[in-house]
Amino acid sequence: MSRLKDFVRSRSFHVIYINTGSCNGCDVEVLACLGPRYDVEQYGIFVHQPNPREADIVLVTGTVSEQWRGKLVPLYKKVPEPKAVVAVGQCACSGSLFEDGRTDPPVSDYIPVDAKVPGCPPRPQEIVDALLEVAPIVFKGYEEEG
Ligand code: SF4
Repeated sequence: MSRLKDFVRSRSFHVIYINTGSCNGCDVEVLACLGPRYDVEQYGIFVHQPNPREADIVLVTGTVSEQWRGKLVPLYKKVPEPKAVVAVGQCACSGSLFEDGRTDPPVSDYIPVDAKVPGCPPRPQEIVDALLEVAPIVFKGYEEEG
């Protein structure tokens, strides 16, 4: 059973999507990736994995608000290796305008970021490109086993 699961998962990956305090502009673009125009599921990318232990990629939007400071690292640690992180939007990548004490960006100060998608907000195509760019990182373990 686990070999079957490994086989299937070696050709698709699950994304846990975390909003650490965005204005929701980036989140609308992430959700657009699921719609009929971009349809990321056709590539085997499943963006709504709520369980970190079942995820392969961590997608983060937002500025890392006060409430998220202590939660982001423990959540990241629950995602099994091999894993990758994509920071979506200027807030997650650099903090943009929001360095006021209640937020503490960027995301890379807390967890290692493998791909950054700048923009306020970035286009869905750029988000899809970043997910495909980090895919080899999460498939690495399967390729070595095979
Ligand atoms: S990068 Fe722009 S659109 Fe995205 S969360 Fe920040 S302010 Fe909103």
